[in-house]
Amino acid sequence: MKHQCDLIKDLLPLYAEDMVSPYTASLVEEHLAHCTDCQKELSLLKKPMAVPAPKATAPLEKIKKMLLLKKIQAIVLTAALAIAGTLAVFSYLTAPIYFPYSEDLLTVTTTEDAVTISFNESVTGCSYESVKGSDNATTYFLSAWTTRLDRILGTYGTREIVLEKEDRIPISIYFSQNDASSESDIPIYGGTSGVVTLPRLALSYYLQLAGIVFLILAVALLVFWRKKSVRLWLLRILLLPLSYILGHLCVKGFSGVSYHMTRDLCFIVGVALFLYLALLFGLNLLRKK
Ligand SMILES: [Zn+2]
Repeated sequence: MKHQCDLIKDLLPLYAEDMVSPYTASLVEEHLAHCTDCQKELSLLKKPMAVPAPKATAPLEKIKKMLLLKKIQAIVLTAALAIAGTLAVFSYLTAPIYFPYSEDLLTVTTTEDAVTISFNESVTGCSYESVKGSDNATTYFLSAWTTRLDRILGTYGTREIVLEKEDRIPISIYFSQNDASSESDIPIYGGTSGVVTLPRLALSYYLQLAGIVFLILAVALLVFWRKKSVRLWLLRILLLPLSYILGHLCVKGFSGVSYHMTRDLCFIVGVALFLYLALLFGLNLLRKK
């Protein structure tokens, strides 16, 4: 009996899987009918293998989540790049193109209380700055420009600047050449001497500052390259001056001169911000690989 049990027990795994011949099956069943020991053995074999189901699906869920996260990061990266690109293009299209002085560019009309300057219709934008002299006389600097967008849209109209003479104090008006040429400003009313409008160089200082910060961080990055956590944070901070430099290049090219500081700076910071976002997500995606 004992030997028979051993034999049957050897066959039971195959029997449980239905992998025995009908003859062997009938032998096994015959034995099982009167042997509780082997019945127990069979019931144990037939129990579904205790496979920890949640454990098996957990890594899969994790991978799914990571893939979704990657997808979202890729979408944000693309969107940020698209916005930065759009901003750069819009900045290019709306950047003022200054007119050099010419006789038919403007006409000056004077009354006792005011001077009116009317520009010809190729001018789509104009502005002036004023400087008060020691004798209380005011000097005005006029600029006239158009933009690529205005040229595309065919925006034309009469642009006028009216300068009032307070208490009839004489005023002098110059036309700023800005970056149209390096010539000194043209006196169009009052004054006579050649005054040069100083370009604002703040943007080039910011650019230099960003370059210096970038270099310092790059050196620090090399020093701390082996410290993984420090390296990651340094990289993230390093992307800030890098984004600013890229933003400046997108908006101003290699020029650091700006006659429209607020406008230029807004575009540079805007482009830089979205570039930073894109670079940050790009870094994350690279790191996860
Ligand atoms: Zn048995």
